[in-house]
Amino acid sequence: MTATPDLAASKVWFLTGSQGLYGEETLRQVAEQSRRIADELGESLPVELVWTDVLTDADAIRRAALDANSDDRVIGVIAWMHTFSPAKMWIAGLDALRKPLLHLHTQAAVALPWSSIDMDFMNLNQAAHGDREFGYIAARLGVPRKTVVGHVSDDRVRGEVDVWARAAAGFAASRSLKLARFGDNMRYVAVTEGDKTEAELRFGVQVNTWGVNELADAVAASLDSEVDGLVAEYEERYDVAAELRRGGERHESLRDGARIELGLRAFLEAGDFAAFTTSFEDLGALKQLPGLAVQRLMADGYGFGAEGDWKTAILVRVASVMGAGLPGGASLMEDYTYHLEPGNELILGAHMLEVSPSLTTGTPRLEIHPLGICGKEDPVLLVFTADPGPAVVVAMSDMRDRFRLVANVVENVALPEPMPNLPVGHAVWKPAPDFATSAAAWLTAGAPHHTVMTTAVGVEAFRDFAEMAETELLVIDDDTTLPAFRDTVRWNSAYHRLARGI
Ligand code: MN
Repeated sequence: MTATPDLAASKVWFLTGSQGLYGEETLRQVAEQSRRIADELGESLPVELVWTDVLTDADAIRRAALDANSDDRVIGVIAWMHTFSPAKMWIAGLDALRKPLLHLHTQAAVALPWSSIDMDFMNLNQAAHGDREFGYIAARLGVPRKTVVGHVSDDRVRGEVDVWARAAAGFAASRSLKLARFGDNMRYVAVTEGDKTEAELRFGVQVNTWGVNELADAVAASLDSEVDGLVAEYEERYDVAAELRRGGERHESLRDGARIELGLRAFLEAGDFAAFTTSFEDLGALKQLPGLAVQRLMADGYGFGAEGDWKTAILVRVASVMGAGLPGGASLMEDYTYHLEPGNELILGAHMLEVSPSLTTGTPRLEIHPLGICGKEDPVLLVFTADPGPAVVVAMSDMRDRFRLVANVVENVALPEPMPNLPVGHAVWKPAPDFATSAAAWLTAGAPHHTVMTTAVGVEAFRDFAEMAETELLVIDDDTTLPAFRDTVRWNSAYHRLARGI
């Protein structure tokens, strides 16, 4: 199986709440109107929105929740109380529901028919209090959810539901994610460590390790004809350095890079893995640290973390799925070095090799450069600058009793000057709200140097994801001030301990 995200295969159920009190004629109108609302909303979503029969009693509601739970294609449910649906009917259903929930607070029509409005109209269009009854029981039961308010003809409303559906797809992808680690974490590093058992409970991810020589065997099994084909693809898609081209003096290194890609892909596909990590300290019989292969796999939707960093690999996979079909991409990123000119501070992010070319619309250069740290042959890799534009970087720390996500809203900028001697894929960005506040908040939160950078979805998608995963998320954006951020970190620590119970 490949890792290419396919949101169109996912379903969201549209549940409409009412009750038997109003009689058949009213329920027929409820059904007709809610189906119309669902159709209008569904047109704008990347997933399939499935309207289901109007729910009027507790048994049907509980059954709908159980059916949603058991269908792997259902990534979430939207609930709307078109009329009044007494919320005790929802207790068993909401208590049983294990899929992400969006409470849509809407109405069939935008305008009130002022000149003709009567009590029949009022009784049919009473989401204004029907949804308040639903909000009460969801709050009382502590059901994680997103609440979206407004008519579905409003772009803002459709946009908020779209982001939630993308987050739900990301969450579903993490629930079914199998992650292969080749080698362990980089020696002595703290922040890339973490509780893999807790991660499987919280995010559903299976994180397991394979000896790197199992990968090396897969690499050795690649056929020369496959290598020929892949090298031809490289020469077509990238600006390949002359020394690496067919006939060039270092062409054999490009063929080694292609073999690594073929072996890695074969291993991942055979094991149904959609994310992986490598370790430059543990390469076994591999000739090069995988660079080009990792970059291309990330661009295809695989999650990746360097130095054994499986937590970031999860985030790269989740961000790839969330952003499927949108311009931009998702990549491992690392805060590397700073431009500290007062008032124009910039962060230069990169990694040794492994930045995804999905961050650029340009044609990357395919080059070969020495890498002093792992005692292997020089690796081949793609070199490029990420496109200017809005982005978000998100990181995960293991805080011992829970995972913490930290997100920073940033703006990728064009290079102030060319960097002809920097032989890696990279991005240069301005963090919100300003460099000093961003960096101080990041350090205060204990957020790591590895992140996922996504240019396809915004921070809202991660807010929704964090709600679904019931995981802490600290956001650094234009509204952030350091004193308030510090307080939030403290309060969150208390909240998350209390919320989890003992
Ligand atoms: Mn690193």
